Amino acid sequence: MVCLHLGVCRTYLGVCVFVCFNAKEVEILRGRGVRRRTLDIVLGPDLLADQVDYGQILVRARKLLVGDTPVLDVLLDQRVACGIGNVYKSEVLFLEGCHPTTPLECLTDDYLLLMYRQARWLMRRNTGGGPRVTRWANDDAGRLWVYGRRGQPCLRCADVIRSTKLGKSLRSTYWCPSCQPAYQ
Ligand SMILES: [Zn+2]
Repeated sequence: MVCLHLGVCRTYLGVCVFVCFNAKEVEILRGRGVRRRTLDIVLGPDLLADQVDYGQILVRARKLLVGDTPVLDVLLDQRVACGIGNVYKSEVLFLEGCHPTTPLECLTDDYLLLMYRQARWLMRRNTGGGPRVTRWANDDAGRLWVYGRRGQPCLRCADVIRSTKLGKSLRSTYWCPSCQPAYQ
């Protein structure tokens, strides 16, 4: 894909000529393809796609981010995987019992991927439109577990839901201190 030794570019009667030396692999793309390829490099696998390359998500998380990156920033980083927004971030962390500031280096590969699988499952269940739902209990307690529920009782343990702005972009983050104890 990468041309390692791209030589001079000159025009001859309006035609571009690229001289390439010792390229291991070459891919020729038109303008639209270049843009798509650039996006492929910038963005991680789309969690709503038919097939998701979880191995690539893992590689991207470990390579692109330093070990002390809080998991909430990992989940929001679209270079790792594409699709998780601020609401799903809090909901996935709650459902997997993970405190939002847990450092990436403290998460096993399996645990990290569990969160991406959970996010994908939730997102795919919400593609039909209407309000976002992560809780389908047949009661009036709410359609989300923690997001937007600051000060209200946890729907699992009755502890009080906390919220503050956390992470690189200081996005509102909600969690239950009992269901998601801080990493020691
Ligand atoms: Zn709880």
